[in-house]
Amino acid sequence: MKEDELRKNTQCSICGNKIGANFNCDFFIINIERYTIDFRAVQKQDHLAGFLNSSVLANVMGTNEDMAKKCGSARLVVCFDCYMENPISDKANLV
Ligand SMILES: [Zn+2]
Repeated sequence: MKEDELRKNTQCSICGNKIGANFNCDFFIINIERYTIDFRAVQKQDHLAGFLNSSVLANVMGTNEDMAKKCGSARLVVCFDCYMENPISDKANLV
């Protein structure tokens, strides 16, 4: 990360403290994408599976269109302390 990009990531999105204020200079950038199920696409695929009597065949013969659509995104800068206090650290296993 270059200096100009680092300057954009100096404040924790959760506690608001400066990164490194607690003498731990590790921080995390978490990109979050929000998706919503496209029920029309799911229903279409489900109907094809019903028609073919096989979800496997429907998967091969279908249009392979997206079943969920992205509808938003966010980027969080998280200090080490907030990361460790947040349950997400258990899932990400980055430490
Ligand atoms: Zn924090």
